Order: sequence, then structure tokens, then C-alpha cells
Amino acid sequence: MARALDSATRDALAERLRFYRELGLVDLYRRPVNEALLAQLESAGTAVVEPASIPPQPQAAQTPAAPAPPVEAASELASHSATPQPNFIPEESAISARKSISAPPQIGSAVAPEDRSAALLQIVEEIGDCKRCPLHKERHSIVFGQGDPNARLMFVGEGPGADEDAQGLPFVGRAGQLLNNMIGAMGLKREETYICNVVKCRPPGNRTPEPDEANTCSPFLFRQIDVVRPQVIVALGATAATYLLGQRQPLAGLRGRVHAFRGSSLIVTYHPAYLLRDPRQKKEAWADLQIAMKELGLKAPQRS
Ligand code: SF4
Repeated sequence: MARALDSATRDALAERLRFYRELGLVDLYRRPVNEALLAQLESAGTAVVEPASIPPQPQAAQTPAAPAPPVEAASELASHSATPQPNFIPEESAISARKSISAPPQIGSAVAPEDRSAALLQIVEEIGDCKRCPLHKERHSIVFGQGDPNARLMFVGEGPGADEDAQGLPFVGRAGQLLNNMIGAMGLKREETYICNVVKCRPPGNRTPEPDEANTCSPFLFRQIDVVRPQVIVALGATAATYLLGQRQPLAGLRGRVHAFRGSSLIVTYHPAYLLRDPRQKKEAWADLQIAMKELGLKAPQRS
């Protein structure tokens, strides 16, 4: 007999079904999810978009020369909170506003896999009750990162939102649910990856971190990367791409290819919060994730 689903689980499952169906990956949710649970979800009346009802998606821009799609911005991270923010600005503007970006420091020495948890804890201890930049003033939690210290795949976002600040964990709001779905579409589980951000304290109002804030905090991120040594890093959004690569470029010019970064392959894609705002870009994000899968040697799932 099928176990009852609570409403939160049902909503999360329905969201996952919609995401996979949007990508035509129907097999994916049929595989991990018990058919009886699916039947229960459907009998509970939780709407799931049928593939035929999904509007056609625009063609993915595969080359830097293609017209730049609308790109995420400072306020895009507002989707971390329940209330969408109206002050959406083009990402290009957000990038040009960044006046100075520090070059990434030298790569640290390798840490043995069995020592990585302790090495990450040491960074947590060094961060302490950090007041190195102004973001400490309004934070509730320092959101260090979460995941497998030996992960082959790392996701790097911009900074914590309201849900993350409240829970002390990265990507736990709506954007986090979408990221979970993206990871599931890759055939992985969230706990098999490592997830962190450029800044560890929530920028007030979910604004883009100022250069001095990102430059002050990002050395901790580089140390996390050097400890985990992931095979592939996915930069979620322009802020992560900018501060990881140490260069200002529109997202359109960075997506669709593999960047060499600190011994890892780095792929740039849209921030999940932006994808919540503009779901038409999910297919382009999926194309980016497939590049990451190829780097990891993962097989692309069958499309329906
Ligand atoms: S964002 Fe980083 S540098 Fe700034 S206070 Fe928080 S932990 Fe410290």
C-alpha cells in the first residue's frame, strides 16, 4: 500500500515532475519515483503539466555570437524569498557595475580525500563570527556550504537568500528546489554534490554583492574549491562566473563551453532563481548541464 504524502512532499514531487516534463525527461521521474506514489499524487489532484501543453521553447543560443538572452541580475536572487522582486535589471548592467574583481589566488596544495571534511571544518573555524565585510550586519547565518567533501561536481551560486539565511544552508528555497531537480535530471543526488556561494552572508534585499564584499569573501570559496577539488564546477549565474573566472563578461559569452579553472572544468549557466523568473531558459540551462555531464562521463537520460 502506498504511503501517504504530506503536502510539502507532494508539492516538491509535483514541481520535479513539471521540471522533467518540461525537458521531456519523463523517464527520469518514472524511474526513481514509485508508481504508487505517482498515482497518489495524481489522485490528490496535484496538477502536473502535460508535455503537450508546454509552449514551444526558443532555440538555444549555442555560440557567443548569438543574440544575448535576457540574463539574470542582482534582484534575481529575490526568488530565494517568497515574494518576487520587481526591480529586475539586465545582467549586463550588474556586471558593468562591478568596478574591481580580484584575480583568484594561487591554487592551494592538495588535501587527501580522507582529510577533506576536517579541512573544510578548519575553514569554517577560520571564518568564525566573521565581520570582515559589511554583509555581517544583517545576516542571521553564515551559509558556508553543504555536500560531499569529495564531490566530483560543485555548484557555486551568488549568495544566500532569505531561506538560506534562516536555515544556514545553501539553496534551500524555491531556487534550491529547482537546483535539486536539475541535479536529479543529471542522474545525481544533491548529497553527491557540493553546493556553496561566492559570499556567505545574505546581501540585504538580495542585492548583488558589492565588489569589496565578494572580493573579501571569495578567498574562502577558493579554499573550499581547493579542498574539494571537484572535477566539474558549475557557476550558477553571472556573479559566480565573474568572481570565479576573475573577468567581467556577459553570461552569454561564457556559457556553452568548458573553462579550465583551478584544475577543474568550469561550466557557466543560469542561476536557478533566474530560471524561475524565465522558465523559457531552462532548456538552455539543461544544455549547459549536459556539457557538465559529458565532462563527468555521465550518460544523458533518454528523452520521451
Ligand atoms: S560575506 Fe564573507 S567576508 Fe563578509 S561577513 Fe560574511 S563570511 Fe565574512
